[in-house]
Amino acid sequence: MKIGLGIGHCISQQGARNITHNITEFELNKNLCQDISEKITDHEVVLIYRDTYVDLPEKINLTNCDLYIEFHCNASENSKASGSEVLYYQWSPKGESYANTFIKTIIESVGLPGRGIIGCNKNDRGGYVLANTKMPAIILEPFFIDNDSDYETFINNRDTYINNISNTINSLVKL
Ligand SMILES: [Zn+2]
Repeated sequence: MKIGLGIGHCISQQGARNITHNITEFELNKNLCQDISEKITDHEVVLIYRDTYVDLPEKINLTNCDLYIEFHCNASENSKASGSEVLYYQWSPKGESYANTFIKTIIESVGLPGRGIIGCNKNDRGGYVLANTKMPAIILEPFFIDNDSDYETFINNRDTYINNISNTINSLVKL
């Protein structure tokens, strides 16, 4: 398979941030995707950076990857919000199946509460990319970056997360 790893957000709009630890979603996921890509031994891998949000689905489609995984961190007005989610396009059974695989890996690796998988439509958060990519696509939200406790839990388990996500990717079969 060819696996697309998408770094959420971009250098000029870095997404949510953790103020205490002075890090943004973009910075965190750029390093994370690099580390994960180096451990993908059983599939071809392509790192995909966002230029503009409008052009992103076409950029992804042009890679002809078999599965697109975009890396984000959650954020909330509620500073106590905590846990892991995976988003998929609600009309994609293959996306749903991959989402189920990855939410299990995330919960086992990070140890935060599982908030489940969320079937999005095109107008939901992340839905534009999920609905307009021609291959199955999922968005990983392993923790809330604006919650210090979630962030610290994730960082303490970062190596495990990288190993387990890469192992899960290595063992994927094309649906
Ligand atoms: Zn994000």
